[in-house]
Amino acid sequence: MNDIAQNYYSHLVKAVITTNECAKKFYSFDEETHRKNYYSHSAALVEKDLASNYPNLTQKEKNIIIAQQCEILLNDEKQRRLTGRSSTIIKLEEVINRTLSQQGISLENFPYFAELPTGKLNATIIKVPNTTQYLVLFENQIYTFVLLLSKVFALSLPIYRDRVGESGISIDDSSIARHLYNNPEAFQRFYELITAYVLTGSVNNAPKYIPSYEVSYITEQLIHSMEIFVVAHEFGHLINGHFEKSNDFNIVENYLGIKPVNEVHFNWNLEWEADVTGAQLALASSLITGITLPWVYTSIQLFFHGLHFFDRASSLFSKETYNPEDKRILVKSLSHPAPALRHEHLFGSNGIEKDASGLSEIVVKILNILWYEIEPKLLELKSKLKTE
Ligand SMILES: [Zn+2]
Repeated sequence: MNDIAQNYYSHLVKAVITTNECAKKFYSFDEETHRKNYYSHSAALVEKDLASNYPNLTQKEKNIIIAQQCEILLNDEKQRRLTGRSSTIIKLEEVINRTLSQQGISLENFPYFAELPTGKLNATIIKVPNTTQYLVLFENQIYTFVLLLSKVFALSLPIYRDRVGESGISIDDSSIARHLYNNPEAFQRFYELITAYVLTGSVNNAPKYIPSYEVSYITEQLIHSMEIFVVAHEFGHLINGHFEKSNDFNIVENYLGIKPVNEVHFNWNLEWEADVTGAQLALASSLITGITLPWVYTSIQLFFHGLHFFDRASSLFSKETYNPEDKRILVKSLSHPAPALRHEHLFGSNGIEKDASGLSEIVVKILNILWYEIEPKLLELKSKLKTE
């Protein structure tokens, strides 16, 4: 049992609530207020989804489904806020657990999974001080980040249908460019996502939208595999014994703005090792989730490189003079190495086998096209904000 980890988590939540207003609001769940604000919004999304995917339902049938879905969503949100554990976390725990036993890996203590506003678009593993128990903490924004990034990427893919109606994705440069410039929605959505994060501090403030069935399907594959990789990387630290190897316990004083928490800043060699184990686990999990390997590879790349463009956008807005060619931006990262280096190490000589489908190779191309399209608009916005 990881009851010690669970108690330590409650302690962290209490500490966060006293210092962080947003966290306080998040963890105090008032059902009535929430129902008012959340319900109509969820209902509208479910209705839109039904209209595009199940156009033959009668209004009465739709209303029943909408009411059921909204109750499920509301209950999940309630659980999430009261316990720090959403249905997503519980599902992830199961997939990781099953993947580990299938790989013959046994851990002394399976970490306790929960959410905490850490301010990083990531998950993090911490050791409960003076024990052998661990916590895997998920930043509250991470689901939205993973969702919206995957959606933008899926919108950017040139999906075609062949003569028998099977769909596929063209991965050549000209098809990608043609698709993006003929369907500029991806540019707009990327811009909205980046500006929500940089200007409001939360990706949760980006506008919500429901894409087509195909885009939604691809998004689902990417979300699940990306979440698995994010957690699996953290398990990589645990499985490879990094907590024992790393003697420079860097106690981050201002982590969460509360009392010191033992968060290890692993050195980069340990990060590469965690990436390799994480990717191996994520690829192995496809036997359990049924998500095919090209999507797993693609989601890993998308996570690495997506984070990089968020860093880049932050630096664009925070620096007085922003030079797009400044190579230092490319290696800017506090806790993890730059994506290009992570990529190189992951698929290098001691890493894992490359993606034979080639699908994941288009991640960088697409993100670059998206970025260079929105960069002038971001600079324009920056100067507008300055003069206001
Ligand atoms: Zn790491």
